[in-house]
Amino acid sequence: MTETKTPARGADRAPIPASWDYAPAPEARDIVKIADRYGLFIGGKLVEPLSRQRYTTLDPSREEPLAEIAQAGKADVAKAVRAARDAYTKTWSKLRPSERAKYLFRIARILQERSRELAVLESLNGGKPIRESRDVDLPLAAAHFFYYAGWADKLEYAFPGRTPRPIGVAGQIIPWNFPLLMLAWKIAPALAAGNTVVLKPAETTPLTALVFCDVVRQAELPPGVVNVVTGDGRTGAELVASDGVDKIAFTGSTEVGKAIQRAVAGSGKRLTLELGGKAANIVFDDAPLDQAVEGIVNGIYFNQGHVCCAGSRLFVQESIADAVITKLKRRMSTLRVGDPLDKNTDVGAINSKTQLDKIRALVESGVAEGAEIYQPPCRLPERGYWFAPTVFTNVAQSYRIAQEEIFGPVLSVLTFRTPEEAVEKANNTPYGLSAGVWTEKGSRILAMAARLRAGVVWANTYNRFDPASPFGGYKESGFGREGGLHGLEPYLRLEPR
Ligand code: NAP
Ligand code: MG
Repeated sequence: MTETKTPARGADRAPIPASWDYAPAPEARDIVKIADRYGLFIGGKLVEPLSRQRYTTLDPSREEPLAEIAQAGKADVAKAVRAARDAYTKTWSKLRPSERAKYLFRIARILQERSRELAVLESLNGGKPIRESRDVDLPLAAAHFFYYAGWADKLEYAFPGRTPRPIGVAGQIIPWNFPLLMLAWKIAPALAAGNTVVLKPAETTPLTALVFCDVVRQAELPPGVVNVVTGDGRTGAELVASDGVDKIAFTGSTEVGKAIQRAVAGSGKRLTLELGGKAANIVFDDAPLDQAVEGIVNGIYFNQGHVCCAGSRLFVQESIADAVITKLKRRMSTLRVGDPLDKNTDVGAINSKTQLDKIRALVESGVAEGAEIYQPPCRLPERGYWFAPTVFTNVAQSYRIAQEEIFGPVLSVLTFRTPEEAVEKANNTPYGLSAGVWTEKGSRILAMAARLRAGVVWANTYNRFDPASPFGGYKESGFGREGGLHGLEPYLRLEPR
């Protein structure tokens, strides 16, 4: 690192050096053994796909192939669902709840033991910085299994006066932004409640789910309790259409969520949808500004902005707008964009070419509609999918960048004068997943939280997760909750006692 003095407090006084030269600090990649090709995990074994179809999964930071992945077809999905049904009726639903807990605790511990391997794999296949997969994705995934392991034999205390019974077979479909963490959010509560599952990972990020199958084997989970079918959206649609599933749990885009809702209508299948978002991160003039700027950066640049609850609309009180934007731009200039496996990297690769194209198109629309764009100087690697951290000012509420989910490292800044105006603008979106409020006044936090139509409201922090805390949306952000006691309910039939 170049020799520099620590900037004085109130960092806008001390100049930040033009370049910070960090030596590369790559995490060792050889801790992960990636097979050339993977089958489908059905009935406790990796099996060849009946469809005989495969596709290649990539490292998005280099556009290099990592492995050949099975594209499960209708017959494969049917086979996985039968395996899950068998395991449900013959073993899993008959086990004592404390036995179910034992398996979940084992999985949690193995995830901890293998966390370095899984973190590297998550960054390789998804493009996210190793610092995040190591410090966020993996610890939270393990924590989720620990948390729901604890509930497995206490369900009757969780729902007093009612008898909790499992539903049967759950079909679970997850996105690519937090592959292993979303797997944990889906599988842990389902198993704790006594169900068996068929999970479909996202097309671009199947690898940690496939290594998770090895974790399942190591934990000696009875065969068929967890099944994994890889493939693209067609595989997901087959799972949704399957007569053998009793419940569909979906996390992904609002568009696909709506299609799934139509597909299951009238079938009697239970459904939960965790969909997109366009969160408001609201900064009042009494907020601790440096702390708020860290929260803004974490809110939108964490995981390249591939976060459903990303704070993608920043609302700043007008009197402090200039100060906040100046500080924000300075902070952005210190973000390190590059190799996801480098421990100094803050912003990694965009997950796929498709996603990069979508981000580019929306950013172009922002410029065309008249917003002012700022990107800090940064060298982007030549190969792979990259997008510089971006902030838009002079944004009108009607612009596409203020209305549509970009799902990339792109922030739109708007201003407000009064709390009423902040609430009205923040709620002016079809989504309602999350929000942030930055102010010193506790009473204002409570008043805002009560009026914001968002499933989660963070106060003086952002993107904080805990398995004990329920998460989910309003409006077009979906319905149903994951995490906490609430996260058990979608996997249970609660009968009157
Ligand atoms: P997506 O296209 O909706 O995909 C989500 C999952 O559904 C993937 O596994 C996908 O397979 C599969 N799928 C696609 N078409 C399907 C169909 N017709 N029937 C059944 N399954 C189908 O979303 P994405 O592009 O992967 O993820 C980005 C979106 O997810 C964003 O809008 C984001 O806000 C949302 N998201 C929400 C949450 C939350 O908790 N609320 C969390 C993460 C992400 P493919 O991989 O082949 O497309
Ligand atoms: Mg998709």
